[in-house]
Amino acid sequence: MENQIQEVVKEDVFLTEYSGMTLIAKADEVIKINGNRVAILDKSSKSVKERHRIELAFLAFVFSLRGERISVGLRLNGELRLMYPNTDKIPLILSEIKKSFSSTFPPEPSFSYTCKNCPFHTDCINFAIKNGDITMINGIGEGRKRALKKAGFLKVDDVAKSDPRAISKYTGVDLKEAKRIVKQAESISTSKWFSINEFTLPTSEFEYFFDVEKGEDKIYLLGVLLKEKSDNQYRYFILDDYWENAWKGFIDFVNIHPKAPIYHYDVFDRDVIRKFGNLSKMNVKELSARLVDLYKLIVRSFILPVRFYSLKDVARTTGFNWRTGSFSGYEAMKALSMWRESKNPDILSKIVTYNEDDCRALMTVKTRLERAQMNF
Ligand code: SF4
Repeated sequence: MENQIQEVVKEDVFLTEYSGMTLIAKADEVIKINGNRVAILDKSSKSVKERHRIELAFLAFVFSLRGERISVGLRLNGELRLMYPNTDKIPLILSEIKKSFSSTFPPEPSFSYTCKNCPFHTDCINFAIKNGDITMINGIGEGRKRALKKAGFLKVDDVAKSDPRAISKYTGVDLKEAKRIVKQAESISTSKWFSINEFTLPTSEFEYFFDVEKGEDKIYLLGVLLKEKSDNQYRYFILDDYWENAWKGFIDFVNIHPKAPIYHYDVFDRDVIRKFGNLSKMNVKELSARLVDLYKLIVRSFILPVRFYSLKDVARTTGFNWRTGSFSGYEAMKALSMWRESKNPDILSKIVTYNEDDCRALMTVKTRLERAQMNF
């Protein structure tokens, strides 16, 4: 028999006491399937990862302590899967967490790409900078950190002053990668940008800066800043179930100057243009040829004083700050879906301000790259 989803409750929080701690588990959605409640975690991932299993096991553990019969499931890129996680290791994990929280020393960060959506991101980065923690060096994860610490490289400065051959020997990376790690450490130590490869930027009287926000469901906000001689104009377009007019508005806007480059950051924005090009059966070849990916250019040509080469971190090295403070891309994604439901203008205003600043951050980074180009 086909599964029947009968009821949906958006976001739910479950609390319980355990071993002197208050456990708080959060589900993105609680639904009813054939009369049984199922707590769902939404993840934008192609496959089930270890961290998903741990989160689900924690959720299931909290339900068992509360004596509730709720199943758990994952929604991966919109596709629902019921899961049966093993909760045996959760007491051990909780006792380690308890130890960390009761220690007078905060736990050391262990950076990975998942950090960008973590609420402690800024705290962890600040902690790592203050302590010269070697995981601040892009390319140093938990394993390499352990190996380097064992060999006496305790701080970023130790790595910055080291011989790459020693880094290669202790971490097992090849010499090329070891040289990059040492240069990366030097960049963090001195807060300097280092050019490593020549590059060229297009020259044009007019320029566009483009950034997309995506909601958890199929809603997109396409933001574009047009830089003209003495003026900048920002426009945004919301592509929802009825996306045709907004898409046309976007195309018209970026074609005011049909030869002007369109700067963006990483592959996602390009994919969105391709997606709506396909949906609208519009040929976006010429438009795509105008896209200039600043992320690709930066990682090929520079070593920067950042842990992550995200637009946020890179733009902040130029002194750029977002008016929305620590509001993140992840929060913008959640907020866009919330706005879709509520149509609350305050929520939209925050997302738009955030997106406009993303576009301005791109413009600032591009200006900084121009300066570097001149000095190369
Ligand atoms: S930001 Fe800090 S707390 Fe969050 S996942 Fe990364 S290292 Fe862990």
